[in-house]
Amino acid sequence: MSSIRSALNHAATILATRHEGAMFESEILLAHVLKKTRTWLHTWPERELTTTQLTRFNALVERRLQGEPSAYITGEREFWSLPLEVTPDTLIPRPDTELLVELTLEHIPLDEPFNIADLGTGTGAIALALASERPRSHVFAVDFSEDALAVAARNRTRHTLNNVTLCCGDWLVPLANQTFQVIVSNPPYIREDDAHLNQGGLPFEPRSALVATDNGLDDIRKIVADSRARLVANGWLLIEHGYDQSIDVTQLFAQHGYHNVTAHHDLNGQPRVVSGQFRTIPSHN
Ligand code: GLN
Repeated sequence: MSSIRSALNHAATILATRHEGAMFESEILLAHVLKKTRTWLHTWPERELTTTQLTRFNALVERRLQGEPSAYITGEREFWSLPLEVTPDTLIPRPDTELLVELTLEHIPLDEPFNIADLGTGTGAIALALASERPRSHVFAVDFSEDALAVAARNRTRHTLNNVTLCCGDWLVPLANQTFQVIVSNPPYIREDDAHLNQGGLPFEPRSALVATDNGLDDIRKIVADSRARLVANGWLLIEHGYDQSIDVTQLFAQHGYHNVTAHHDLNGQPRVVSGQFRTIPSHN
């Protein structure tokens, strides 16, 4: 027999040899086995686990120890306070990407029906977060992967966000003839030869959602170029990028004629997002 507290302590000690945040990870896995929240675990630390529960928990801890991300083990990850289904067909939403949502919301008024595009939506994390905060706006969420879109569709239903339309295709291609006040994207941006791809949970994630050619910049370049024809006058483009790509991405925005180009840092102090506006009406000053 084992109490919740001692099972968690034991698992956290084992996981700490391999991963950061071992207690948090242990709690996520045990909460999943017991179908309870992490808060519930904290409320009832003395409760005894049944042998079946303990066996199932140990099996999940073992999978985590082998490197499988806990979001894939439990099939869930919270983003912007929305619990989202996650599968190996989708990237796991990162806390860093909440910065992109925060910055994007600054450009979407509460009381106006803006058209927004989220390119490479995956689980739908960004699109659903924006749609939940701006019910009058409509978000068009695009992904190349039909399997990812099926996950996004279930997440949309789960949170009854009817102001999201899911579209299958390559970046802006499925959105032909539409214009947007805001375009946002967390595209693949890791270099093909980046050693991080073999580390942590990354080997478990879809490579197509992580890796881009041309030093990780190929997809970002396409999005920066093609968004110009799809932004309304002075519409905003916001893109997440890798920790060492801020200068390159800022230059790409400038080369393509964007103005008010700004680099933004995440909570860890890493440059993470570039934003800029595109003026489609020529100015005569
Ligand atoms: N930020 C992720 C990572 O470094 C990558 C996400 C992406 O490629 N868009 O793990």
